[in-house]
Amino acid sequence: MAERKVRVRFAPSPTGPLHIGGVRTALYNYLFARQHGGDFVFRIEDTDSHRFVPGAEEYIIESFKWLGLEFDEGVSFGGNYGPYRQSERRDIYKKYVDVLLDNGKAYIAFDTPEELEKKRAEIPNFQYDASSRMSMNNSLSLPAEEVKRRIEAGEKYVVRFKIEPGEDVHVNDLIRGDVVINSTILDDKVLYKSADGLPTYHLANIVDDHLMEISHVIRGEEWLPSAPLHVLLYRAFGWEDTMPQFAHLPLLLKPEGNGKLSKRDGDRLGFPVFPLEWHDPKSGEISSGYRESGYLPEAVINFLALLGWNPGNDQEIMSLEELVRLFDLHKCSKAGAKFDFEKCKWFNHQYIQKKDDRELAEQIMPAMKDEGVDTSLDLLAKVVGLMKSRVSFVRELPDLCRFFFMAPTEYDEKTRKKRWKEESPRQMSELLDVIKGIDDFSIENQEKTVMDWIEAKGYNTGVIMNAFRLAIVGEGKGPQMFEITDVIGKDETIARLQRAIDVLK
Ligand code: GLU
Repeated sequence: MAERKVRVRFAPSPTGPLHIGGVRTALYNYLFARQHGGDFVFRIEDTDSHRFVPGAEEYIIESFKWLGLEFDEGVSFGGNYGPYRQSERRDIYKKYVDVLLDNGKAYIAFDTPEELEKKRAEIPNFQYDASSRMSMNNSLSLPAEEVKRRIEAGEKYVVRFKIEPGEDVHVNDLIRGDVVINSTILDDKVLYKSADGLPTYHLANIVDDHLMEISHVIRGEEWLPSAPLHVLLYRAFGWEDTMPQFAHLPLLLKPEGNGKLSKRDGDRLGFPVFPLEWHDPKSGEISSGYRESGYLPEAVINFLALLGWNPGNDQEIMSLEELVRLFDLHKCSKAGAKFDFEKCKWFNHQYIQKKDDRELAEQIMPAMKDEGVDTSLDLLAKVVGLMKSRVSFVRELPDLCRFFFMAPTEYDEKTRKKRWKEESPRQMSELLDVIKGIDDFSIENQEKTVMDWIEAKGYNTGVIMNAFRLAIVGEGKGPQMFEITDVIGKDETIARLQRAIDVLK
């Protein structure tokens, strides 16, 4: 068989905000498509009208825009295989339902919800399958004329897939290998409902993957139980030669304990499970998002990429381009991946270090202005460069950077007690004179001059520098002292020293 063009799809149902696990699924599809020069398709699976949530589709599109994962075709992107919204493909599905009915692979069933309920109550573990279908109301058990009469009378019906029992169904999964399920445990799944003229997920999914020439189905583990049914459907249509390769990704697990990651874990431990903030249109509830919580998209991508896969060495920081190069679908793990959100913070910290100082400065400039700081972008960028190694979120920067632009109005009591010694006022007065005498105020020259003075006087460097820091910063924190004075300048250094001597005595 000729090598197929790689075409993968991300096919969410617009039933609410996109879960972070869905983002991981989309990312793996994206990486796989890009590394094979393939296509990445965006399909909306909205055949279940009861679960439709307004705004969800737009939310999903915006999420990927923010994350920088680009689709080649699909809803809102166009392409040659459209329409890409399943609710707009009714006629297509109807045609394929008829194909299955005509070749005896499916049948029509009239059982009402009440009748089904009654059966379930009567028979423990009732399943609509080869063992029970002849005792139900369907086109296999009823005379042909009656079936015809009922349909013509407008009676509602569903179309069920006729599963032949006693057969081992093999799902060849790129991650899990040969998964075998006996068809006897499968029920005659509903493929279509006359009530709304829409197919169910299973039929629409298979027909679309076929028509859209999808080569690989990469999706979450929760879909593995459906895969045998899907294999049987491909066969029923005679499409086994172009059946996509399956790859079911490992589950995302709770950060602690066992089980699947849920929104409640996020609420309890304080991390988002959605890419963007979500405003529930019904309840009005607001759920936090990675974007609004201050995560950089690159950090989120890098973090998610490693939940279920790794490059086989200890490299952790990888750009999207590197991930495209290194990712290997065959090396994904079968075991669930613990959602260690502290690690996500760590990635955010790492990516802030890679960010351009000016870009970060631009981002925090409004917050600085709000606090009354009036400075140039250049200077703020320089300060950001000194302080960014201390933060995991950009929003932490303004608070840390403020002291460069605003002299301390008070001095931290604990630091004062520890660092401001009896001899400090005298020593700081001397230092004031030393600094007044420095013409070349470069970091190197300041440092040399001050250190020479300390040495000549036989002072303790720690004692001097600690008092100096308290005077300039107002507390015991901050980067190297001469980096600070370099930014605030000679006049401001002198003024702050003078004030500390006056106030602290
Ligand atoms: N519509 C399904 C979902 O919401 C798609 C599953 C699949 O990829 O086959 O995830």
